[in-house]
Amino acid sequence: MVSSKQSSEEALLARPHVRPAMLWEPVPGKPGWVRCNLCEKRCIIAPGRYGACGVRKNINGKLYTLVYGLLTAMNIDPIEKKPLYHFYPGSRVLSISTVGCNFYCKFCQNWVISQSRLEKGLYGVYKTPEEVVDAALRYRADGISYTYNEPTIFFEFMYDTARLAKKHGLFNTMVTNGYATPEAVDTLGSLMDAATVDFKGGGNKEFYRKYVGVYDPEKIYNTILAMRDKGWFLEITNLVVPKVGDKEEDVRKLSRWIVENLGPETPFHLLRFHPDYKMMDYPPTPLETLEKLASIAMDEGLKHVYIGNVLGHPLEHTYCPKCGYRVIERFGFTIVSWRLTKDNRCPKCGYKLNIRGEYRGRPTTPYSLL
Ligand code: SF4
Repeated sequence: MVSSKQSSEEALLARPHVRPAMLWEPVPGKPGWVRCNLCEKRCIIAPGRYGACGVRKNINGKLYTLVYGLLTAMNIDPIEKKPLYHFYPGSRVLSISTVGCNFYCKFCQNWVISQSRLEKGLYGVYKTPEEVVDAALRYRADGISYTYNEPTIFFEFMYDTARLAKKHGLFNTMVTNGYATPEAVDTLGSLMDAATVDFKGGGNKEFYRKYVGVYDPEKIYNTILAMRDKGWFLEITNLVVPKVGDKEEDVRKLSRWIVENLGPETPFHLLRFHPDYKMMDYPPTPLETLEKLASIAMDEGLKHVYIGNVLGHPLEHTYCPKCGYRVIERFGFTIVSWRLTKDNRCPKCGYKLNIRGEYRGRPTTPYSLL
């Protein structure tokens, strides 16, 4: 006799967005149990149970993704929105997401999708990689960005889409919390061209434990090194949460690590926090705090320090690290003035800036295709 659990799992397996997962292994000595090796949570999952991200399930001793192509967003964005300021500036990216996340940030701005496994169940509009790439080409995007929720948790769809996108001359970028395993980065390899890695609260361990639900943020550094070794272009952000995630020594330490491991010309964005989700009673980050942290990052040797989520701030712009000339002027996500030469040199002193790709000059306001 077929149990109701069995028949509901059979029904689940018949859905197009339920696919065999990548990067998992059986657990020795525990028949039917699996270990997911996609992110550093490395969940050990009993039969019939889900991983911590809520979108990977052990069905009959095999791991499945439940969100293959189940999209919650498909938007055209300026690449500056990621933020990627030094990678094909002025280009347009088709941006996609699903539900779910491996982090539990209490301040998440996209909590409606990232945390919905807990509150609303799975939902989205089913698309194939062919449909996503076709949309990117039809709407004249320069690349695809895997973003809004943590793309690691929809790895299989990202992988297939990135492969197809490459064949059509599109670039791939991801916006990530940096908790993918080095194996996951290795599997993506040269399919991924760039990543924005988002720190929160300066990478402070206690902050991650209390507000993110992650106990070992140190692992993020290894993942970034794996990305670097694969040749991905990297920009680092840090969300500054007032009072609880704004320590000067943390930003100093993080800046020093970036200088030593990724180089002083790595773009570093200090992002202003706005009250959201479970942290509605916290104020937006004071401007003085952001400016103080920016000056600390510069003291540590970083040449491209930006302040994000503060419209019209002078640290939205790019300055030549050698002569200080304002070479790119921005207002929010829009480039309002581009002064570099065709090969990304300062027109005043000839210094070559750390910018990958040419200026595309195709401004857009974000709009949805779903
Ligand atoms: S991707 Fe999900 S299931 Fe896999 S280790 Fe991370 S949280 Fe666990």
